[in-house]
Amino acid sequence: MAARSQLIEAPLHAYAVQVSRCSGVGECAAVCPVGVFGTDLGGRCAVMNEELCFGCMACVAQCAENGVAVTPRDARRYPSVEELLR
Ligand code: SF4
Ligand code: SF4
Repeated sequence: MAARSQLIEAPLHAYAVQVSRCSGVGECAAVCPVGVFGTDLGGRCAVMNEELCFGCMACVAQCAENGVAVTPRDARRYPSVEELLR
């Protein structure tokens, strides 16, 4: 498993990761640099290591179903990409 980012300083459990829609192709797992995603028994994406997420948003950008949500648990310290781009 790749090391967590040295560019985005976020402790474990800084972000919540949820999958609401999934067609099971696996792009999110392919792009996540820290192995947050796995596959459930039905072949769909499953959040397996949420604590490792550091909020890079690669999975959100990649999901064709627009089905992945990544939200900071403490928005004051770890703003979303949308907030950073405002
Ligand atoms: S990128 Fe989206 S559709 Fe593809 S496996 Fe992940 S959650 Fe499912
Ligand atoms: S935002 Fe997505 S791709 Fe980036 S570390 Fe978190 S789960 Fe992985």
